[in-house]
Amino acid sequence: MGYGFTLQCKHCDYEQRVLLGAGFLTQNLAKQAYNDMKAGTYGAEFKEALEGTPYAAVHLMNELFVCPDCGELTVEPDVLLCAPTEGYVPECAMPALLGPELGDGEYTVLLTKTHTCAKCGAVMNKAENPRKVACPRCRGELTASGMIMWD
Ligand SMILES: [Zn+2]
Ligand SMILES: [Zn+2]
Repeated sequence: MGYGFTLQCKHCDYEQRVLLGAGFLTQNLAKQAYNDMKAGTYGAEFKEALEGTPYAAVHLMNELFVCPDCGELTVEPDVLLCAPTEGYVPECAMPALLGPELGDGEYTVLLTKTHTCAKCGAVMNKAENPRKVACPRCRGELTASGMIMWD
């Protein structure tokens, strides 16, 4: 089950609905990403890491990304290629990891998909606290309100 809220600027008319986490279709998206990595769509680094790692798995979840240069905000799936942590042997191969957590430390992140800003091309950062980000238009303070559940 995913969650969300509405970001609203106190100083201008910027408003955006933000849906984060994982929903009903997230597992399908993760499987799709796994196949795309295998096919080379994510680049050689992902393809080689996936092929060279037994029980490699993809973890995918919606996150809010912030551009450090122009302040643009965007919600995109955070795509992680993971490997079982040393000492952990999964019972079977699971291309898509379930749930928002990476198990109980059972998996370790190998590679993370890079997100680039659609407006200026800078590499975006994951918002540590998505409820406390600045307005992309005026850099004023945004307030987060409402609690949306989605799946
Ligand atoms: Zn604003
Ligand atoms: Zn930017």
